[in-house]
Amino acid sequence: MAPLRVLELYSGIGGLHCGLTESGVSAEVVAAVDVNTTANEVYKHNFPNTPLWPKTIEGISLEDLDSLTFDMILMSPPCQPFTRIGLQGDVSDPRAKSFLYILEILPRLQKRPRYILLENVKGFETSEAREALTRTLESCGYIYQEFLLSPPCLGIPNSRLRYFLIAKLQGERFSFQTTINILEGFPRSHTPQLDSSGTAVRLESNLHTDQESVSHKQCPEGAILYKLETAEQLERKLTQDNDGSVQTLQDFLEENVEVGQHLLPTKSLLRYALILDIVKPTCRRSTCFTKGYGHYVEGTGSVLQAATDVEISAVYKSLETLSEEEKLTKLSTLKLRYFTPREIANLHGFPAEFGFPDKITTKQRYRLLGNSLNVHIVAKLISLLLQNTV
Ligand code: SAH
Repeated sequence: MAPLRVLELYSGIGGLHCGLTESGVSAEVVAAVDVNTTANEVYKHNFPNTPLWPKTIEGISLEDLDSLTFDMILMSPPCQPFTRIGLQGDVSDPRAKSFLYILEILPRLQKRPRYILLENVKGFETSEAREALTRTLESCGYIYQEFLLSPPCLGIPNSRLRYFLIAKLQGERFSFQTTINILEGFPRSHTPQLDSSGTAVRLESNLHTDQESVSHKQCPEGAILYKLETAEQLERKLTQDNDGSVQTLQDFLEENVEVGQHLLPTKSLLRYALILDIVKPTCRRSTCFTKGYGHYVEGTGSVLQAATDVEISAVYKSLETLSEEEKLTKLSTLKLRYFTPREIANLHGFPAEFGFPDKITTKQRYRLLGNSLNVHIVAKLISLLLQNTV
């Protein structure tokens, strides 16, 4: 069979392309489209033979798209319009324009692609954009399945809960029983697993806790609440660290990191000490790395305790009673550092040969990685999408 012709929209640094390669499917990206010049430099560096179109998606004509004759679309539209913390302008937000253009073009293509994969932030599932997407897919004759997936479901110690949709043209079937419910794990096997009602799909893993699905329990015995976190948050962290189905962070760390070069600045230490999410190499969790990582501290991703022999509780105990200087001396013993861009790429599942051109700054790397996605999840979804095609 001829390789599948794939169109990669909002290609960024090529996380979807890496997922496609990892899936082992015989395919060729016939065009990657993105307007961001920095992202495009990284993309070109890694995929020098892929045609890269540095333009806006809404600037591509129907004729140009038709001439590509692609079999598959992979896309991760910009998430701002759909985030809960964003403006929530949804489809009226100008940033949703290119996505609406794709929905408008799809029915008009000479040859509709057989396969579609879309990635977005959690929150998309309740947006008007999602309504418009599923309406278009149905009217164009697609069947689809939606997911909310986070890397721990593949044993990766990083939270990154994202919405995914895979769709294929009717006439082809999925290898599992589709459901209108959003799946929170991968279907277990190639054959449908029906429950007594005949609809539910059993999942490989839906046990992993994520920020969005917290169980409310009492403070675990012996735990000390020394930081600004609730008993539930602490309980969740302990549960995650004890989940043997997830790898430890040390498997993803670079060897010989110059700790001094990645330490948190003293200003951040003092200001954010109580809200930092601190993890050790032996932990089996880390919070979602966002584009502000390494620059802003609050809520942008975990920091790593490089001094593993120091007890964090001993450092935090009675911290408030100390002078700034004493506080800093104490906090410094933890050697809190940022994860390096390479380590975040490792957690995202980018292959070892993936790299950045030298001139891309560390801040730019964090930013690009913060916008990217987990490659292993994409690879698995592409395999699932292509399985059992008739
Ligand atoms: N999946 C990508 C990240 C996508 S982030 C990765 O792995 O890196 C969304 C991307 O959409 C950004 O790179 C942004 O530059 C691009 N983008 C946003 N609006 C666009 C438009 N109208 N046309 C083309 N690209 C756009």
